Amino acid sequence: MREEQSVISEVTPRAIPFHRPMFDEREAAAVADVLKSGWITTGERTAEFERRFAEYVGASHAVALNSCTAALHIALAAEGIGPGDEVITTPYTFVATVETICYEGATPVLVDVDPVTRNIDASLIEAKITPRTRAIVPVHLAGLPCEMDPIADIARRHGLAVIEDAAHSLPASYRGRKIGALSKATAFSFYATKNLTTAEGGMLTTEDPELARRYRRMSLHGITSDGWKRYRLGGKWFYEVVELGYKYNLTDVASSIGIVQLEKLDGFDRRRQELAAFFRERLSEFSGIGVPPSPDHVHHAWHLFIIDLDEKAAGVNRQTFIERLTEQGVGTSVHFIPVHLHPFYAEHLGHKRGDFPAAEAAFERAVSLPLYPAMTDEDAEYVVRAVGRVLSARA
Ligand SMILES: *Cc1c(COP(=O)(O)O)cnc(C)c1O
Repeated sequence: MREEQSVISEVTPRAIPFHRPMFDEREAAAVADVLKSGWITTGERTAEFERRFAEYVGASHAVALNSCTAALHIALAAEGIGPGDEVITTPYTFVATVETICYEGATPVLVDVDPVTRNIDASLIEAKITPRTRAIVPVHLAGLPCEMDPIADIARRHGLAVIEDAAHSLPASYRGRKIGALSKATAFSFYATKNLTTAEGGMLTTEDPELARRYRRMSLHGITSDGWKRYRLGGKWFYEVVELGYKYNLTDVASSIGIVQLEKLDGFDRRRQELAAFFRERLSEFSGIGVPPSPDHVHHAWHLFIIDLDEKAAGVNRQTFIERLTEQGVGTSVHFIPVHLHPFYAEHLGHKRGDFPAAEAAFERAVSLPLYPAMTDEDAEYVVRAVGRVLSARA
């Protein structure tokens, strides 16, 4: 124990946080322009962000919202999904995917994951379909697209909507088709740590113009026209509420950041690809470390770099591994505690440990390493060496 620590403390720690957002004067100037303009909430900047985002992912329509959680909720609500209905999704995700199904009073039906990709195992979906099933919500974990052809085929045969949780997958593609233009609805996140950020924010894309109108209306109290149209000079004061709505609109302040971030996205993506390739090559040399797969038929967005730690082969348990990296200034995280293991969902859905063995085993071995465009080559090299020092200092 003593010896282990002394080996590590010989090295000067370099601070590599788990995540750091990347802004420059362009985002700052864009925000300043909005603040000076006198119109700060949903308006022309948001409309422009929606147009550009739709074009970027090849979707016909994009509706900006204040989170991906809001996007998932509205997509489910617009389907008319409610009490008695079932929605198939994965336990290996952030809680938002599952909680939004519960918002509508519907029942999340969890399907175990592929142990290597950590994505929903499409071959297990059909066995969980009942006459009450209404939709499938695949999550492209870490930015690796799910097997969308089999999922779309199952959905078509059973008349189910596919609503993708694409919080991690910007930009990503599956068999040459961009995520965002494949399914009935796709929900993106612009949360602080995501590949494109507006601090908080989200986007819902669809091919259906009627559905896009509905999403937009639901995002603002179910009111028939946008506030900025009603209140701009010469606008009419009259409006009607025609359905149950929410307060999920994105502000022009956030959208102005999003527009600049979208212009930088290809550059961000290139850097993520480089870092992921470097980590995959270098870390796979260590015994006990499994690197995430990068299949040829997809474009992986590399939102997260989740290694698979085999405690026996590595000779170090996960908690110690994480602590030793922290001591060397390398921030890590764990994605995700399977949803059915959280106390509320265990109770609410009647699940227990052992119900989804692949998800549980994958979670027990998961450690997310830092990977983001602000990382330099030296940072990446330092992370690899820090991992190497933890492994060679073991026992
Ligand atoms: C971040 C995240 C969300 C929620 O995104 P918000 O924009 O914070 O609401 C949903 N699903 C997954 C898989 C996420 O990681």
